Amino acid sequence: MPSTQPFDVIGVGFGPSNLALAIALEEQAENGARRARSLFLDRQTDYHWHGDTLVSQSELQISFLKDLVTLRNATSRYSFVNYLQQHGRLIDFINLGTFYPCRMEYSDYLRWVATHFSDQCQYGERVERIEPVNNGGGDIELLDVISVDSHGREHRRRTRSVVVGTGGTPRIPTVFQGLRDDTRVFHHSQYLSRINQQRCARGEPMRIAVVGGGQSAAEAFIDLNDSFPNVRVDLVLRSEVLKPADDSPFVNQIFAPENTHLFFDQPETERERLISEFHNTNYSVVDLNLIEQIYGIFYRQKVSGKQRHAFRCRTQVLNASSQEHGVRLQMRDIATGQEEAHHYDAVILATGYERKSHKALLAPLAEYLGDFDVERSYRVRATPALKAGVFVQGFSEANHGLSDTLLSVLPARAWEISEALLANAEAAEQRAESQGLKETAA
Ligand SMILES: Cc1cc2nc3c(=O)[nH]c(=O)nc-3n(C[C@H](O)[C@H](O)[C@H](O)COP(=O)(O)OP(=O)(O)OC[C@H]3O[C@@H](n4cnc5c(N)ncnc54)[C@H](O)[C@@H]3O)c2cc1C
Repeated sequence: MPSTQPFDVIGVGFGPSNLALAIALEEQAENGARRARSLFLDRQTDYHWHGDTLVSQSELQISFLKDLVTLRNATSRYSFVNYLQQHGRLIDFINLGTFYPCRMEYSDYLRWVATHFSDQCQYGERVERIEPVNNGGGDIELLDVISVDSHGREHRRRTRSVVVGTGGTPRIPTVFQGLRDDTRVFHHSQYLSRINQQRCARGEPMRIAVVGGGQSAAEAFIDLNDSFPNVRVDLVLRSEVLKPADDSPFVNQIFAPENTHLFFDQPETERERLISEFHNTNYSVVDLNLIEQIYGIFYRQKVSGKQRHAFRCRTQVLNASSQEHGVRLQMRDIATGQEEAHHYDAVILATGYERKSHKALLAPLAEYLGDFDVERSYRVRATPALKAGVFVQGFSEANHGLSDTLLSVLPARAWEISEALLANAEAAEQRAESQGLKETAA
């Protein structure tokens, strides 16, 4: 049975989005607002930010000044600058002369912030579903969040609102879906742990295909090239070339928090046009410095005459099958239609992420939530009967713009959600009080 006193909010996932919310709620209380009774649940046993992708060369793709809080409150103790100060690296970081720390350091910053909220976070619990609490018909004031811990024990907790911040789900292209059990085929989100189980980690030769033409594919290619001299890599991509991510200053203005208002107020067709126009800021693109590194690797191959890696552009994978000694990929040149088959010892799917996990978690609330349209305050539009708040972070790109799945608007978004959550909690208490008064009078 859940405890009788409900939480004001349960955050599902404790990635950067809900971490920023924890900071915003604390700041609200310090400014005199209600101190929210909050809890954050994360399936990881410990804090990591995309931990299996943290190869040594990977860098943050956004300025460190766009951390969890600075854009809203530059004097916050949770800033990246304060993290550096507390760890005795501020002067060293300044001397690096960069806005882009390595992702390993940024993950450590996030973990450091998370330790300040350890009393509000429960790790090692995977949330399975979010159910309405139906007290005999009428309005739904409360929700139950049902999670399972590492021992398989189920937990049920009651709350006035939920904020789902569960991030992306690895996208597995259809042709690879039949190979999910094959340990030689894995998504880039599992890169480090899986590559360390391969023969190349013991120095043995391997032939590996990296499928994809975005940032993750580029990072995997460079890591395999640098860390495993006995690995030959085929970079397999549908596009003609590796295209650079546009992070030029005027374009970067679309990620300003103010831009969210502008974007949200546009008609649907205009929003779609804007997303398509600026798609090359985030999707299927690579940081220019990595493109130059990869180009240099292929150029040096030409100079030496020793071909180690292959660049298979304009290539569609038609079929993938497990074989005794590897994985066979049947591929087609998109321009000429010519087909070839190649054998690999392992295949890494750098094929991106889908944003759909919120729908499965919220499925028991489907009759109240319709098609998951999201309001400006990031609350999912619901029928009037659902008084409990359902908020999402990172699942509203179509309504709030390209920054929605990224780090750039976290401080502003967390603040907006915290205001809506607190208002919802106050309203719920007032309804409960007036209900109590009515019952007493009757
Ligand atoms: C490799 C990689 C690098 C990136 N680099 C950048 C970058 O440099 N700049 C940028 O702006 N964006 C970057 N992004 C985009 C990324 O989405 C954001 O940086 C950020 O991680 C979004 O935070 P989030 O909290 O919404 O989601 P996530 O960081 O994905 O966090 C979600 C959390 O929810 C937990 N979770 C998931 N399902 C459940 C469940 N059922 N129950 C309990 N817990 C659950 C997960 O364990 C995780 O901790 C990157 C993405 C990837 C994959």
